[in-house]
Amino acid sequence: MATNKLLLTFAICRLIVTVGLTVDPTELLRLGVDGQLSVDPADVETASSDFGLMTRAKPLAVLHPASAEDVARLIRAAYGSAPGLTVSARGHGHSINGQAQATNGVVIKMSSSRERTAADQTSAAAAAARPQVSEREMYVDVWGGDLWIDVLKATLEHGLAPKSWTDYLYLTVGGTLSNAGISGQTFNHGPQIANVQELDVVTVGKGELLTCSEEKNSELFHAVLGGLGQFGIITRARIALEPAPQRVRWIRVLYSNFSSFTKDQEFLISLHGLPASQRFDYVEGFVIVDEGLINNWRSSFFSPRNPVKLSSINADGGVLYCLEITKNYDESTAETIDQEVEGLLKKLDFIPTSVFTTDLPYVDFLDRVHKAELKLRSKGLWDVPHPWFNLFVPKSRISDFDEGVFKSILGNKTSGPILIYPMNKDKWDQRSSAVTPDEDVFYLVALLRSALDTADETQSLEYLMHQNRQILRFCAAAGIKAKQYLPHYTTQQEWVDHFGDKWAQFHKRKMEFDPRHILATGQRIFTPSFAHNTKNTKPINTHNSIIASS
Ligand code: FAD
Repeated sequence: MATNKLLLTFAICRLIVTVGLTVDPTELLRLGVDGQLSVDPADVETASSDFGLMTRAKPLAVLHPASAEDVARLIRAAYGSAPGLTVSARGHGHSINGQAQATNGVVIKMSSSRERTAADQTSAAAAAARPQVSEREMYVDVWGGDLWIDVLKATLEHGLAPKSWTDYLYLTVGGTLSNAGISGQTFNHGPQIANVQELDVVTVGKGELLTCSEEKNSELFHAVLGGLGQFGIITRARIALEPAPQRVRWIRVLYSNFSSFTKDQEFLISLHGLPASQRFDYVEGFVIVDEGLINNWRSSFFSPRNPVKLSSINADGGVLYCLEITKNYDESTAETIDQEVEGLLKKLDFIPTSVFTTDLPYVDFLDRVHKAELKLRSKGLWDVPHPWFNLFVPKSRISDFDEGVFKSILGNKTSGPILIYPMNKDKWDQRSSAVTPDEDVFYLVALLRSALDTADETQSLEYLMHQNRQILRFCAAAGIKAKQYLPHYTTQQEWVDHFGDKWAQFHKRKMEFDPRHILATGQRIFTPSFAHNTKNTKPINTHNSIIASS
């Protein structure tokens, strides 16, 4: 019986490779996979959109893979298809600008969340494969579509946890590794892409599953990390672990003076590499330009037990800065935690009356943004357009950015949290595809704003997107060499400028690993070699998308 099924599948695959896969969905459904190739309107609808809710692109079908081999089957068929077929992996669809979409192509639904849909249940072999932890060698092997929250839960059963995080854990391993994966631990451990030991990747050219690492197929390994989905589909990642802390002391302090704030942040990240007792484990921060926002969805911390009134603090130009730091501890260090925190705080120059402290289990700290998500969902404020905009700003120009953006362009109104924290460039492996500014220290500035359909035009999508463009123009005019994180561009020249010295290598890697440019076309970096049927990505509202040609 199994042999018959195998033979049938083989025969279908051969047929497809011989005659070429057509872009007719019924033909597509003949591809033999163990999971499910779906044209169910609900699946297609989900894959047509993303968290940004600004760009729509309808795929022909959605693959729910049962295994890495299913991914390889699809890629082989798509690569061999005469009329051409694009393929995009979709993690949890938390991109902003359609990066995981595939117009008239196939979207591979990689996410194997434990909150699976009915379709997932039928193709759940991959989803059911639990992360495999090696306690002895301190790593975990995970499916590329696993959510970080599930990775955390699985590793905690062994008293272990990954070292480097994102602020929000309902993102997939493959999705964040295709960008970088950053948070307050990055200054010390590097981004998530610096904490990967090995990957399994389905490449396009050969349609085969390759294991890659520093030692093996290293060009592919470095290409894929931060590679924006351009070089292959990550089906497995081996992530480095550390003993999991039990608890977290979480502290926020306020500054009215920007240079004191950044001086302290830079001092704190310079302590990387020191014994844990002599540094914080996490350093972030955010900007408060609007009193309403002190209790926004990312800072519920302040209320209701810690209400803060901006008017009670003498803010410089109406702007306050909040430093957010944590220290991990467990039973063995519980006795010294107060002393260690006190010793570090003494070296900082914040407003003395503005110390807000809380203490919570490690997992609750890591999963903090999910609580905010649930709150926003309950108010109908989660599924709204998100014109989020992330920049890496070189340290030497961060005060110019403060003057020009926080104190000027934003005009006392933000419509969402604005994060700001520095990172050490030497924690980033320059062989990866990720792009950072050309300075030893650079800041993430993240404008995480939601557009609302209200009478207040400053909350509209058009207004917020206009501000994003204004910020880019301001940086260009002021010569601030900022780089976009989670980049989005509409012309190839902008991509060439973004990659700078790395463009030649990025292009060469593309030609080697995806010569027909069929992968992750939603990033709009390269035009597929059969561009005729991929150009109808539909922008919603004013957002214009032009596919760049190579
Ligand atoms: P998707 O958006 O589905 O995919 C992103 C890109 O990766 C696409 O091009 C896709 O084709 C490709 N891709 C996905 N899976 C694979 C795979 N297995 N193999 C190859 N390519 C693949 N980022 C941070 O760094 N730090 C943060 O703190 C952070 N916080 C966030 C909080 C929220 C609420 C949200 C919505 C996003 C946040 N992000 C953060 C951004 C996040 O890293 C990106 O959205 C990223 O794209 C991961 O999301 P995803 O897993 O849904 O991937």
